[in-house]
Amino acid sequence: MVQHQIVIVGSGLGGLLTAVFLAKEGYDVAVLEQNKQVGGCLQTFSFDKKVFDSAVHYIGALGEGEVLNRIFDYAGIMSRLKLKQLDADCFDQVLLEQEDRTFRLGQGTAGYKESLVAQFPEETVAITKYCDFLEKTAQAYPLYNLRLGDGAEKLPYEQLHLSAVLADTGASPLLQSVITGNSILYAGDRRFTSWAAHVLVSKSYIDSSWRCEGGASQISKYLWKELQVHGGTIYRHEKVNKLCYENGKITAAHCVSGNIFYANQFISNIHPKETLAIVQEEAAFKKVYRSRVNNARESIACLMVNIVLQPGKVAYKNYNVNWNNGDPLATIERLQESFPVNYSIYYTEDQANRGYAESVSILTYINAADFDTWAATFNNTIAPAVRSKAYERYKEARAGLLLDKIAERFPELIQFKKSVKIATPLTYRDYQGSGSGSLYGILKDVNHFAATTFSTKTRIPNLYLTGQNVNLHGVLGVAMTSIVTASEFLGMEYLLNKIR
Ligand SMILES: Cc1cc2nc3c(=O)[nH]c(=O)nc-3n(C[C@H](O)[C@H](O)[C@H](O)COP(=O)(O)OP(=O)(O)OC[C@H]3O[C@@H](n4cnc5c(N)ncnc54)[C@H](O)[C@@H]3O)c2cc1C
Repeated sequence: MVQHQIVIVGSGLGGLLTAVFLAKEGYDVAVLEQNKQVGGCLQTFSFDKKVFDSAVHYIGALGEGEVLNRIFDYAGIMSRLKLKQLDADCFDQVLLEQEDRTFRLGQGTAGYKESLVAQFPEETVAITKYCDFLEKTAQAYPLYNLRLGDGAEKLPYEQLHLSAVLADTGASPLLQSVITGNSILYAGDRRFTSWAAHVLVSKSYIDSSWRCEGGASQISKYLWKELQVHGGTIYRHEKVNKLCYENGKITAAHCVSGNIFYANQFISNIHPKETLAIVQEEAAFKKVYRSRVNNARESIACLMVNIVLQPGKVAYKNYNVNWNNGDPLATIERLQESFPVNYSIYYTEDQANRGYAESVSILTYINAADFDTWAATFNNTIAPAVRSKAYERYKEARAGLLLDKIAERFPELIQFKKSVKIATPLTYRDYQGSGSGSLYGILKDVNHFAATTFSTKTRIPNLYLTGQNVNLHGVLGVAMTSIVTASEFLGMEYLLNKIR
């Protein structure tokens, strides 16, 4: 039996940042993590002596004075991170199946616009309209600007469809495809994606784009250290299987290990479906809330092919490559009849041989349902298992199709590949505890905005939510939600003043 003031379930970025914000203010905070490694999607792994990011390959808005820089600075980790800024004139390269030309997206508000104008000089009016509206929208989101605001400011933008806004700028279909060429960052889909999601994610990378040298797990490592400095604790190998509900409140977190953690307040950083599943009492939540959470669809899943390269053979690219088969906002729909429909390549520089890549990670969309045959199997570091030969054959066949496509434009990645490791939606599900293995958790649908975003408060007065499923995914989105969750305890004005 262990007693703390606040217990947080899950040590993803959302859980860790919220924990640090609260511990800094004197709260006695404990984080319960089912895995050995903390950080959820921030985890790294290694094979063939090279370190790979399991999910987070680049992060936006970490430049001096920018929103994530200020949040991480307040959390005490900014100065410790080892970061490398991507190329100023091209942080993301865009390739389209039907186009031989390559396109580039530049950093900085002015640099981004200049890069588009240089490539589409005849569309300067549309580009100006698009960039101005992007800036205006970002200004209307108080948290993006770390200021107190009125929810009403965002209202005019919240229900706008990304595809409708782009069409309204008068941009040609090709220019629209370039603007959304890196829409894997938010799983852009013309049917569901809001303009606001595009703005908040894209703008952060336009502000500035960074790789974590040595892996994104340094973020969780330093947040953990900072938490300890302020008296907080992380308990690993503690999978919570019950949040005990008594007299209208949560009283304790019960773990598979048999350990019980008591607290006055609880914060869940895990998928809301799992949160509801571990609060077993039907009466704890209204039926309508349970059905909203349980019926929420997941965002698209992914396949990641990680390749260790032969040393000194492949030039390092200080930008990411994003290829789409046609309109990037239609790729998820197209996945029903073809594969691959997109890919993004992330290069890691060889520290001992600068200028060369030691490895690449290649990410592509895949339907989670393709792996339903093996859904009952489980494999992670705590419970290692071999799924089946059929599973291995299937994932290798899918990776083979992806690598065939890669070979058309990047034959050197195939020619000089040394070893390969493939992650499927089941890998993400089992290693990161991310529900069905989706890329970004619950699918945020602009047509059902209120139904697919969640409040950090729940009906249970001492249970709060945080993490990517609440509102926006990604390092920045999750960091902003951590501010909202922590502000339930500290007050928004107080916390923002501190961060500023
Ligand atoms: C393939 C991929 C690529 C991505 N690339 C980027 C990128 O380049 N840049 C970017 O900004 N974002 C990226 N993202 C998104 C980003 O990583 C996530 O949105 C964010 O890290 C999610 O953080 P979170 O706090 O919501 O929780 P998660 O990272 O999902 O962590 C939840 C934690 O809870 C733990 N947990 C679950 N259930 C239990 C339980 N019952 N008991 C105890 N612990 C439990 C899990 O083990 C996990 O540690 C990517 C995501 C994926 C999947």
